[in-house]
Amino acid sequence: NTFSDIDLGEAVDENIRRCKYVKPTPVQRHTIPISLAGRDLMACAQTGSGKTAAFCFPIISGIMRGQFPRPPRPRMAFPLALILSPTRELSCQIHDEAKKFSYQTGVKVVVAYGGAPINQQLRELERGVHILVATPGRLVDLLERARVSLQMIRYLALDEADRMLDMGFEPQIRKIVQQMDMPPPGVRQTMLFSATFPKEIQRLASDFLSNYIFLAV
Ligand code: AMP
Repeated sequence: NTFSDIDLGEAVDENIRRCKYVKPTPVQRHTIPISLAGRDLMACAQTGSGKTAAFCFPIISGIMRGQFPRPPRPRMAFPLALILSPTRELSCQIHDEAKKFSYQTGVKVVVAYGGAPINQQLRELERGVHILVATPGRLVDLLERARVSLQMIRYLALDEADRMLDMGFEPQIRKIVQQMDMPPPGVRQTMLFSATFPKEIQRLASDFLSNYIFLAV
C-alpha cells in the first residue's frame, strides 16, 4: 500500500519522494502493476484521481528498463511513448507532471498542442524526445509534415478518451494509431483512460487494445 511495494526503479522512486507522494491513489494502486506487467489496460478515471502518474510511472520506468537509446536528432522525431490528450491545458499539465516524474532520468518529454505556433514545438522535437504528449490535431499536422514518426512507439496512453471523442477527434486518433501499426511491427502497450464507457469508447478499446484488462476503480 505504498509506492515501495511497486517496483518502478530507483530513479522513479526518488522522483516520487521528491513529489511528496506517499501512498498510491486507488487508480494508481490498481493500474500500475498491470501496466508494469506489460498488459493493455482500459481504466475508469476521473480528473483528480491521480491518473497522470498512473500512466506516466510505468512508461518512464519501462523506457529506463529498456535501455533507451539517446533520442536520435534527425529532422524527424522518433518518440518511444505517446500520450494523447484532448486539450492544450491538459497536455501542458501532463507535460509538467511527466517532467517532474522523469527528473534526472535522462528521459525527455516534449509537448505539442494546437492553437499555438508550431515552430517552437518543432525546435523542441528536434532536440530529441522519448515521451511525446500531444493533442490529436497537432500531432496529425506533425505527421503530415513528416516531423514525427510513430514507428518506434512502445507505449500509447489515451487520456480522457471520452472527451477526445466528444470533441470530434476520432478520425485523427484512428489515423494516428494506424501509423503505429505500420511495419516493422512494434510491441505496443496501450492504456486507455476514460470517465465514461459509451459504445464508441468500447469500440476504440476493441480496435486498439489487445487482450486488455478493464478496471473500474
Ligand atoms: P491527476 O488526476 O493525475 O490530474 O492528479 C490530481 C492531483 O493529485 C495532481 O495534483 C497530482 O500531483 C496529485 N497526485 C497524484 N497522485 C498522487 C499521490 N499518490 N499522492 C499525492 N498526490 C497525488
